Amino acid sequence: MSWIPKILKGGRKPTALELLSSAQWRCGSCDEAHQGMFALASFAPDPWPGAERYEPNGAIRLEGDFLSEDFCVLDGKYFMVRACLEIPVLGTHEVLSFGVWSTLSRDNFDKYLVGFDDGDYPDMGPWSGWLCNRIEHYIGNDPLAIWLVPQAGRQRPRLYVQDDNHPLAIDQDNGISPERVLEIYGHYGHRPSE
Ligand SMILES: [Zn+2]
Repeated sequence: MSWIPKILKGGRKPTALELLSSAQWRCGSCDEAHQGMFALASFAPDPWPGAERYEPNGAIRLEGDFLSEDFCVLDGKYFMVRACLEIPVLGTHEVLSFGVWSTLSRDNFDKYLVGFDDGDYPDMGPWSGWLCNRIEHYIGNDPLAIWLVPQAGRQRPRLYVQDDNHPLAIDQDNGISPERVLEIYGHYGHRPSE
């Protein structure tokens, strides 16, 4: 795969859109190669007290603490699932995707488990939940109510902010510019090298 040059012909820097559409761009912060637009994923819900280690999904326990790639149980009382919150990026057919966690009621968590393997759920939501991760630049520590919509097939569920007037809901509706995507990456410690 080829790198996008830091300086293009004519001596100008690539635009945010060119960078995010490129096969590879050099990150000046984490020193890795990023491929165009990438998802920002949270390993676990922010309140997860344990190690950064997954058990297999199939080992799910509803008592005590449990964490796998897709399910989390805290203290046998709080039930969370891994989902995607997506923001369309203007001028592209792509989305900026946040891999984040949402709470579910015990009832909806059970429905999610029933349908998880083949994507065929007892109902297709939306199910109400609380976002379990901070999203830099959008969300601090205030609880944020979201809708979780399970997806057919083996796609992760999608999240939508319940309050239409929240800045994140507005961006989910209208989309954001490629420049803004780079700004958000910057908050997560990924900036194109100068
Ligand atoms: Zn980086």
